[in-house]
Amino acid sequence: MDSIADTTFTNSRIVAAYRERTRRSADLASAAAGLFPSGITHDARHLDPYGIYVERAQGPHKWDVDGNRYIDFFGGHGALLLGHRHPAVTAASDAAMAAGTHFGANHSAEVRWGQAVQRLVPAAERIRFTSSGTEATLMALRLARAYTGRSGLIRFRGHFHGWHDHMTSGYSNHFDGSATPGVLASIAERTVLLDPGAIAQVRAALAADDDIAAVILEPTGSSFGQVPIRPEFLHELRKLTEAHGALLIFDEVVTGFRVSRGGAQVAFDIRPDLSSFAKILAGGLPGGAVAGRRDILDLLDFEATRAAGQEKIQHPGTFNANPVSAAAGAAALGVIAESDANDRADATAASLRTAINDVLASEDVPWAAYGTSSGFHLFMNPHGRPPDRARFDAHDASFAELKEQPAALVRKLRLALLVHGVDVNGRAGGLLSCAHGASDVTETADAFREAVRMLRQEGELPH
Ligand code: PMP
Repeated sequence: MDSIADTTFTNSRIVAAYRERTRRSADLASAAAGLFPSGITHDARHLDPYGIYVERAQGPHKWDVDGNRYIDFFGGHGALLLGHRHPAVTAASDAAMAAGTHFGANHSAEVRWGQAVQRLVPAAERIRFTSSGTEATLMALRLARAYTGRSGLIRFRGHFHGWHDHMTSGYSNHFDGSATPGVLASIAERTVLLDPGAIAQVRAALAADDDIAAVILEPTGSSFGQVPIRPEFLHELRKLTEAHGALLIFDEVVTGFRVSRGGAQVAFDIRPDLSSFAKILAGGLPGGAVAGRRDILDLLDFEATRAAGQEKIQHPGTFNANPVSAAAGAAALGVIAESDANDRADATAASLRTAINDVLASEDVPWAAYGTSSGFHLFMNPHGRPPDRARFDAHDASFAELKEQPAALVRKLRLALLVHGVDVNGRAGGLLSCAHGASDVTETADAFREAVRMLRQEGELPH
């Protein structure tokens, strides 16, 4: 399974320790290699020599097929603000499963689910459920183009909005906006890619092109604020889009129901025209939604379009608002509305960021943990600035410094953390849930200490 030729990797004690602990995962990975491209079913699971195979999960933890327990910071790719198997969500989805998974008809859970969204997100005058976040941003863009009669889309470098054709360039490559493999050049051409936070660029782009239908962004910055943007930028965007007749789309697939109960738009008091949701929305099951202004979502409405003499946008989708996702989502949003889940997750994340920074300081590693809300990111200082963790402000770091992490080092760090029972994401950061607690913070900090010591022993960090 080794796909890395480099000897620092194949001779690594970290890799050997990882292999030693994960033999059953290795067997499954061998079988998967004959089935799936790279042996995986989501790009984020690409890990050399192979990723762990997980069998079950509870609260903030998950267990692999070899019986190892991990503190989970993948958090269902952000879906699990309440942790794994929250009792209210599990009870609701179990009951829905027992009643039938697809009725080919309307059902009460979709009404409860929609009401739960409206309760938390005031701008959700109308909602249309989809099966994923990708589908939600696709529909948001289609609505924006149909509503404005314009074709252009402004996006920001590094911001991710799913994998459909209109959103591929400029996320992790093709920062010049050129088409990625399999995408028509004519589609990529109607995207204007700008630098995140650069309001002057937005002003100029809107002034130069009166055919811009919408501006879409991750409202706390790309990858949940790995490259953060300031709220003032959002307020300026709101004013500029309004002035130019372009729609403002908040992609709240990650931030929704996390940054605050009502997402980033409630936290920053900004009313976007449209929003996309997924992840937490569906309580850990598949599901997404586009929500926003009634006059825009009316383009999906049979009666409204007929009355206005407009052509309706079609929107089928076999699993839109399927009863199991609807029940889980309504239950999760109910817990979020009525508990302090968001605040608890935020507080634990803040103490984790501090704990990791304390370890980095005592181990003399020139990195910094940073972030807001219930997440953490790792600044790996690729350009060797003097470490000043206490005052490190990611707003002052460049896009390249924050995004371009040394891939081989991140990979080894992830493996070393896995060896010590911690699963972070591919950027060595993660998302917390309200189920994470003080002991998870302590254990994670200990794991970081052991991991950086291992890296140092292998010559990956200066002595
Ligand atoms: N937008 C953002 C901000 C996301 O983070 C993601 C998924 N990570 C998506 C859209 C796409 O959502 P999905 O994976 O449900 O298609």
